[in-house]
Amino acid sequence: MEKWMQVLTEKIPNQQLISDLAGRYSYSFDASFGEHLPDLVVQAKNREEVVHVLKVANDYHIPVYPRGQGTCLSGGPLPVHGGIVLDLSQWPQEIDVQVEDLTVSVSPSVRTAGINEEAEKHGLMYPPDPSSAHVATIGGNLAENSGGPRGLKYGVTKDYVLGLELVTPEGEIIRTGGQTIKNVTGFDLTKLIVGSEGTLGVITEATLKLVPKPLGKQTMMIEFMNLRTAGAAISHTLTSGILPAKIEMMDQACIAAVENFRPSGLPKDAAAIIIVELDGHPETLKVEIEMLQKIMRKIGATGMTIPTTEKEADDIWFARKQVSPAIAKIKPTKVSEDATVPRSKIPDMMDRLQEIKDKYSLELVVFGHAGDGNLHPNILCDKADAAEMKRVEKAVQEIFEAAVDLGGTLSGEHGIGTMKAPFMEYELGAAGLDMMKRIKESWDPNGIMNPGKIFPEKGQKLVLTDG
Ligand SMILES: Cc1cc2nc3c(=O)[nH]c(=O)nc-3n(C[C@H](O)[C@H](O)[C@H](O)COP(=O)(O)OP(=O)(O)OC[C@H]3O[C@@H](n4cnc5c(N)ncnc54)[C@H](O)[C@@H]3O)c2cc1C
Repeated sequence: MEKWMQVLTEKIPNQQLISDLAGRYSYSFDASFGEHLPDLVVQAKNREEVVHVLKVANDYHIPVYPRGQGTCLSGGPLPVHGGIVLDLSQWPQEIDVQVEDLTVSVSPSVRTAGINEEAEKHGLMYPPDPSSAHVATIGGNLAENSGGPRGLKYGVTKDYVLGLELVTPEGEIIRTGGQTIKNVTGFDLTKLIVGSEGTLGVITEATLKLVPKPLGKQTMMIEFMNLRTAGAAISHTLTSGILPAKIEMMDQACIAAVENFRPSGLPKDAAAIIIVELDGHPETLKVEIEMLQKIMRKIGATGMTIPTTEKEADDIWFARKQVSPAIAKIKPTKVSEDATVPRSKIPDMMDRLQEIKDKYSLELVVFGHAGDGNLHPNILCDKADAAEMKRVEKAVQEIFEAAVDLGGTLSGEHGIGTMKAPFMEYELGAAGLDMMKRIKESWDPNGIMNPGKIFPEKGQKLVLTDG
């Protein structure tokens, strides 16, 4: 056994260390591409264990990869240079709601959906709602700055973080922010850590902001005969004085995929649908839904469905949730992107996606949180088909370029990880990227925290095959 492993075992119970091949293999992938075996997996269950792991790793210059539930879509927890995977999912789940402060303190392993469930018991809400909320951990959400459909009205994870406890790469415990809504004491390290993808340390506790739970909600599904009108309907809605909680869009290919997979009564002949959820006081909802109908009629919507029961509304949202599993049936490999553009550029982005789809003869479907410009172009392909994967790689590169050229960004919520690192300079410029690198180097002088992520390595290219 190597010396660093020996030292590590001194303070970590044996049953929390995984060194056999089968065990390590199960930590070699996430929900994206690529497989990388760690040398050791440590299942940390408290901050003292995290401190010990990071001190040993820092002394011996061993890479450490924090990991929640491994649902990352950009390669974030992959141990690309070997070393230690630090599994935080086994840490006891602690959720402590401070009702009068409208805050909640959580341990890193807590499943995100559990926070909202706990808040609702007190008439409160934790708004960030990534689709993976029932599986993913809050630690992963904080590291990726995850968002979900409600991001349109309520923002994303970073908008709800008041304070963090972090173990630094050198094994010190620091606390950032606190319990208060306002806090301008020094640099805002909380915001720096959120979204840093585990490259600056290990988050061991978070204090999150809660909001009052809205008194009611109302869903509406609207049909369009072309995608541009659907895009325009979104901007007309958002400039009308109404701010829906969610506006989700599905194109024709997504509608067809869902109807083939699990028939849900979606309009099969529509070129696109948008699904809106309004929330607020029931009386306000009545007025807003009428306004919305007028807007949609004026812009040329070809059909509208306004559910009158909770069950009917749930069925529509269930159909929306079927998009991912439904399109996964079309072909064995799904390349899921989350390029995001300014809202006014949604129609232009839709045109660019159509051009890319035709140019490379690919199955490309689009759905997503269109209300905040966060589209999910998904390419359905077969990773065993090398020629097709080459076309996919070129198409993905052009999707990134299209988003940035339209004033948007490489990633609205899935993060950079390994998958988008080669394109960082395209968005940030050399000086912008270098400034981020300098921050990283001062936090982590030995470069042990999640190396190989965010920052492109020499000659790194987009590779969409495992290995
Ligand atoms: C079906 C599906 C749907 C999804 N839907 C959404 C969505 O709607 N919105 C969205 O934003 N994302 C979505 N995702 C992506 C993913 O679920 C999120 O990125 C999530 O936050 C990852 O959480 P996790 O616990 O699985 O973290 P992991 O995948 O294990 O890790 C993610 C990153 O966080 C780091 N990390 C984990 N824990 C810590 C910690 N305690 N301290 C420091 N760093 C840490 C890891 O090193 C890694 O870089 C989806 C994924 C899938 C598979």
